[in-house]
Amino acid sequence: MKYLIIGNSAAGVNAADGIRANDKKGSITIISNEEFGAYGRPLISYYLSGKVRSESMYYRSEDFYKSRNIEVLLNTEAEEIDVKKKEVLTAGGKKLSYDKLLIATGSSPFIPLVKNLDLSKQENVFTFLTYKDSIKLKKQIIGKSKVVIAGAGLIGLKAAEGLFGQVSSITVIDLADRVMASVLDKTSADIIQGHIEQNDIDFKFQTSICEVHGGERNVNKVVLSNGETLDCDILIIAVGVRPNINLAKKAGIKTAKGIIVDEYMRTSVKDIYAAGDCVESVDMLSNESKILALWTNASSQGETAGFNMTGTEIKAPAAFAMNAISFFGLQLISAGVIGTSKSNEIVTDSAENKLRRLNISNDKLVGFVLINYNQRAGIYTALISDRTKLSTLEYDITSKDIGLDVYPKEERTKKIWNHKGGC
Ligand SMILES: Cc1cc2nc3c(=O)[nH]c(=O)nc-3n(C[C@H](O)[C@H](O)[C@H](O)COP(=O)(O)OP(=O)(O)OC[C@H]3O[C@@H](n4cnc5c(N)ncnc54)[C@H](O)[C@@H]3O)c2cc1C
Repeated sequence: MKYLIIGNSAAGVNAADGIRANDKKGSITIISNEEFGAYGRPLISYYLSGKVRSESMYYRSEDFYKSRNIEVLLNTEAEEIDVKKKEVLTAGGKKLSYDKLLIATGSSPFIPLVKNLDLSKQENVFTFLTYKDSIKLKKQIIGKSKVVIAGAGLIGLKAAEGLFGQVSSITVIDLADRVMASVLDKTSADIIQGHIEQNDIDFKFQTSICEVHGGERNVNKVVLSNGETLDCDILIIAVGVRPNINLAKKAGIKTAKGIIVDEYMRTSVKDIYAAGDCVESVDMLSNESKILALWTNASSQGETAGFNMTGTEIKAPAAFAMNAISFFGLQLISAGVIGTSKSNEIVTDSAENKLRRLNISNDKLVGFVLINYNQRAGIYTALISDRTKLSTLEYDITSKDIGLDVYPKEERTKKIWNHKGGC
């Protein structure tokens, strides 16, 4: 059996692992258009800050591939899939045949329409999605650099954190009225924003960059839609990502925002699977099909696809949105449906920047935000994913910090046994 995987990151690597766990003999080839082996994408901001060195960026060692007899072709772009001949054509003119194919192509930065912006020419304008982006950006910074970041989502804020202390100023611009607007309510976002501002990072909300000025190869000013002009030595565009679906689309595979797959990670074309940030997942809480761009989701979908490519039938685990991040030492965990601040239970201790926000609907926990409260995140997450009826618990979860004692005795014993691997 010949397995071919496009994309050598969370989804692709775990797929290869899943295949090899079930098929010791088949040939496995992974192709990647990046020049580096698989690395921890979430680590790129730590590389930028100097907290993680290049040798610690890698997600899997060379030995991982060797010991499993997996061939990796770096700097290789898949350009076309010929579904009839079961071949992938690369930009270098190679034809790679397959019996089973996985598309694990992730996503690419979205570049907004901004007057005079041209990333192919302007050497001080960056996106922040790859290790290469981080290396290039690191080379560009000098102590007096004034940095402007378009986008106050996870990636923009992580870029700001990575640059902190190495440049003269950082200003983050966003059209929304708060940081991480797609995943946080205003109360939670204000705590995060306040903490980041203490580290001398400025925010400008409800505005966007509409024009840039400078020389042919540089940007030195950005003009905002509110009329302000900012000096700028480095501009980072972090306004969102789009799933890489063109390859699949061209091959006639069904797509919407992402590639459409079933619960076995099969696409609409026989013997072609897809996993990770390039696919639409069904959010178990809303039942909506959406992109859940999460490392853990990509990994488990990749592993599921790998198993199924060998003929073992397993379903991908149910998923919902979840983020566990730290910004300048502040721990944030958010999961599920966050809703608006008003409609939910809020427990805060503003002196310690602590917040525990639970979104309860129809006797079930459907989402939460924990800021500097992470020790109980596992229990809250289990309450969501198990769809536990809160009225069956020992006490009201909004009344105090919860522990395992929230479960009735029998349930608690089961959980402890499962946790210890008991039978
Ligand atoms: C700064 C940053 C911080 C993050 N922090 C977190 C976090 O804290 N928690 C979390 O859960 N997630 C985080 N994420 C998101 C997480 O990294 C992604 O969800 C995850 O990497 C998705 O894995 P994937 O394998 O689906 O795709 P990707 O990691 O995007 O990998 C896809 C690979 O396929 C390659 N490729 C694409 N097209 C082709 C082609 N035609 N031919 C060959 N190769 C191709 C790409 O170059 C890439 O190497 C973060 C992301 C960033 C950028």
